[in-house]
Amino acid sequence: MKTIDYSTDEAAKAQAIFDRNARDVIACNRCPELREYIALVAREKRRAYRNETYWGKPVPAFGDPTARLLIVGLAPGAHGSNRTGRMFTGDASGHWLYRALNRAGFANQPTWERPDDGLQLSDCMITAALRCAPPGNKPKPQQLVNCSVHLAADFALVEPRLRVVVSLGAIAHRAAVKMLESRGWRFATRPVFGHAAEHTATRERRTLHVLCTYHPSQQNTSTKVLTEPMFDAVWERARTLLDAAL
Ligand code: SF4
Repeated sequence: MKTIDYSTDEAAKAQAIFDRNARDVIACNRCPELREYIALVAREKRRAYRNETYWGKPVPAFGDPTARLLIVGLAPGAHGSNRTGRMFTGDASGHWLYRALNRAGFANQPTWERPDDGLQLSDCMITAALRCAPPGNKPKPQQLVNCSVHLAADFALVEPRLRVVVSLGAIAHRAAVKMLESRGWRFATRPVFGHAAEHTATRERRTLHVLCTYHPSQQNTSTKVLTEPMFDAVWERARTLLDAAL
């Protein structure tokens, strides 16, 4: 993994904001119906995980608070990160994501097992449009609006260093674009979602690259709508853009 040396002060400030954002997410009750749902899932559990203690709370961002790459996902899986409490772990899509991030040098290992498994991200942070697992993986518009306060907080944290955003799926992409536009970023062309689509946004003298990929859900990967070479190409492109920005 590549590391960038920020001053101790800058890294400590970013970590403090990251920790505050995480506390705000975990304590959030803006969508009481979702809090009830994820608590119910945590009590009832899936048979395969009946001996585990589910997290059963909103899931905060995961990764490097000084990241230049921000990944925007959709929402926790009911038996994935709603069980583990860590973004994109606990289900099949997480296997795909962390394998790819490891190959591209953003994750120190390709697998996750337990909270103490040592998984770390470098120059990369993962957030999501919604932090509570929605029934049927289908967020309601008002829930996305409610949760945008947390997405905004994560964007604000990484924005001083941000170079590349990768959206996992169309809903996450719309949330990322809306967030960037609300923060004064302007897109050169209409930022339409499509796998491997790439857009640029500018603000003052800065340029940001927004890359899109199909979500690595089992539905997409088992049908080969998304293959590992297709997925890898997106992370390689992100790596190239970041290397060029050094
Ligand atoms: S989905 Fe987001 S806004 Fe709604 S309760 Fe969960 S953390 Fe809060």
